[in-house]
Amino acid sequence: MNRPILATIHTEAFRHNLSRIRELAPASKIWSVVKAKAYGHSLEAILQGLESTDGFAVLDIADAQWLRDHAWNGRILLLEGIFSLAELDLAVQLKCDLVVHCAQQVEWLESYQHHSKHQINLFLKLNSGMNRLGFKPDLYRTAFHRLHAAGYHLHHMTHFANADRVDRSPSVGEQLECFEKATEGLEAPSSLANSAAILWHRNALGDWIRPGIMLYGVSPTGVHADIVRSELQAVMQLRSEIIDIQELKKGDHVGYGGRYQAPEDMRIGVIACGYADGYPRHAEDGTPVWVDAAKAGGEGIICPLVGQVSMDMLTIDLRTAPNAKIGSIVELWGGEVPVDDVAQMSGTIGYELICALAKRVPVMIQQ
Ligand SMILES: *Cc1c(COP(=O)(O)O)cnc(C)c1O
Repeated sequence: MNRPILATIHTEAFRHNLSRIRELAPASKIWSVVKAKAYGHSLEAILQGLESTDGFAVLDIADAQWLRDHAWNGRILLLEGIFSLAELDLAVQLKCDLVVHCAQQVEWLESYQHHSKHQINLFLKLNSGMNRLGFKPDLYRTAFHRLHAAGYHLHHMTHFANADRVDRSPSVGEQLECFEKATEGLEAPSSLANSAAILWHRNALGDWIRPGIMLYGVSPTGVHADIVRSELQAVMQLRSEIIDIQELKKGDHVGYGGRYQAPEDMRIGVIACGYADGYPRHAEDGTPVWVDAAKAGGEGIICPLVGQVSMDMLTIDLRTAPNAKIGSIVELWGGEVPVDDVAQMSGTIGYELICALAKRVPVMIQQ
């Protein structure tokens, strides 16, 4: 048998989350944001779970090509537009919508001569305060007029820096005010909201929303409790098995550096999952791991991680799971253990963990 680690992608959860998003924003169309190989979930999986989306937003033109090669005929948005003039022909051939965020891209588009130019959708990006991509308000209107004159079909777009919290600057309200002022009188559909705005700022959606993390059932804030009421479901489940059990005496140490010391005689479960699989090496003692059939009733139970995570293995405290044995299934994250909780115990956010699922982990797409 193979090493027992497996990532299961639950396409039913994709469908559920997408329909939750439609309920939250019934008047908007949905760009399902699938950059970074669908946040680590694979492009194959989105075509099986998110096929009723209005479009997919990707970063790399290679992903747009892949989607077309796999019969996706719906819309595709290149989230950062083209990276060189040489990409423009392919982007048009693939019928991609393009973000335009800088003057260089405006020049490329102005110089472009193509018979179907007027069918190309552009999402012109306003820098409304995040100061990453986009035009400052004064330059925005000029760019809009130039692209309009060149015959393109324009949309307004901006991105929020702090839709997941209330105590930071710029606030959604400030960015929205900037957006409204900069686009005043320029008739065009708009695209504003990321997941956090869809969840908590429904005055700031726009005609096209751009949910990413919530599609995957993960919290934009990094705290799972914040999305419990939204009834999203985890799409990725990372599972493995106990492959060895050690009987420790009181005072024995576990793993590299001996970070954990047994406070009493106890059993330790060794799990086939380590940082080379994408499990965070910084996970602290106490990070939850779910163990199947660990209790007498056959129910699962949470056991705490103990000791440093190593490349191929991690270790858990089995004191509350007397029935756990070699071959018991464990969930590292998924429906029982929110990836947000693992991330919080590791000094990061769920986004990073799901995106960093390692290539060596086999992925199964569950219908
Ligand atoms: C990644 C991204 C999103 C999605 O953000 P989430 O926080 O994952 O919902 C939306 N818009 C743009 C421009 C992005 O780059």
